[in-house]
Amino acid sequence: MQEKTGGPEVLRFAPSPNGWLHLGHAYSALFAFDLAKTLGGRFLLRIEDIDTGRCRPEYEQGIYDDLAWLGIEWERPVRRQSEHFDDYEKALRRLQQLDVVYPCFATRKEINDAIAASGIPLRNWPVDPDGAPVYPGIYKEISRERRNHLMWEGRSYAWRLDTEKALRIAETMTGAPVTFHEEGISPGGDNGTLEVKPELFGDVIVARKDVPTSYHLAVTVDDALQGVTLVTRGQDLFPATYIHRILQVLLGLPEPRYRHHGLIRDETGRRLSKSAKDMGLRELRSAGHTPVEIRRMVGL
Ligand code: GLU
Repeated sequence: MQEKTGGPEVLRFAPSPNGWLHLGHAYSALFAFDLAKTLGGRFLLRIEDIDTGRCRPEYEQGIYDDLAWLGIEWERPVRRQSEHFDDYEKALRRLQQLDVVYPCFATRKEINDAIAASGIPLRNWPVDPDGAPVYPGIYKEISRERRNHLMWEGRSYAWRLDTEKALRIAETMTGAPVTFHEEGISPGGDNGTLEVKPELFGDVIVARKDVPTSYHLAVTVDDALQGVTLVTRGQDLFPATYIHRILQVLLGLPEPRYRHHGLIRDETGRRLSKSAKDMGLRELRSAGHTPVEIRRMVGL
């Protein structure tokens, strides 16, 4: 765990500008901002805009407007991930040197075909915590010649983490099981020092051919570069911590503490999505609601 050096706690809210913010985001942002204040710490806003196809400037502006309206103050300049691809590329190179990533050329169709060919019905095939079928491993064991040939052909590919090998190497580096410290509550109700279970993800994508990163890699690199000491975020991202911890060990990065919080749900118990218009902060604002009412709505 990150050594307490006597410096202030550093917390962050890290939204992706691929939609308008809703009550769930308001809760997450206020949760981090309030906690930073209580701890006498610093609060950062980070724009996670690596998916340049889905992120839009108006959504980013919407984030600044909505957070300012809520009374949240953040340090400047704001780190925008799209401006730091070289940092992620450096981390990717390190993973390549450690030989824990491999290029995967599989299309979605090839993945589905491989699952069908396994004889296991799709409904019984394991799904990772992000909702994608666990990668069936095609292109994992191919020869160097075939790999080079596919690259030479200009085939599109993603870098996948060989999760099992990565965990093994990380455990060798730490000389112990890889763990993290959860101050909130896991979806299963645990907290304290917990062991990672990265096998739930299988071989996750850590970078793409054209974008040298993924959510997992960028968030890990940035939390370290920005000196984040306490990561707060929704419980939906709890399992992602397994991957982040392994990456931290492999990349020699400090270990923050984690505090995952519950999710705001709609009346039917469903998690709010970007399309949950009635819960959108812009809509609530133009309907005349105040920041104090928003706090009450999310139970703060
Ligand atoms: N950018 C992520 C999201 O909008 C959150 C990242 C994090 O808090 O780790 O869901």
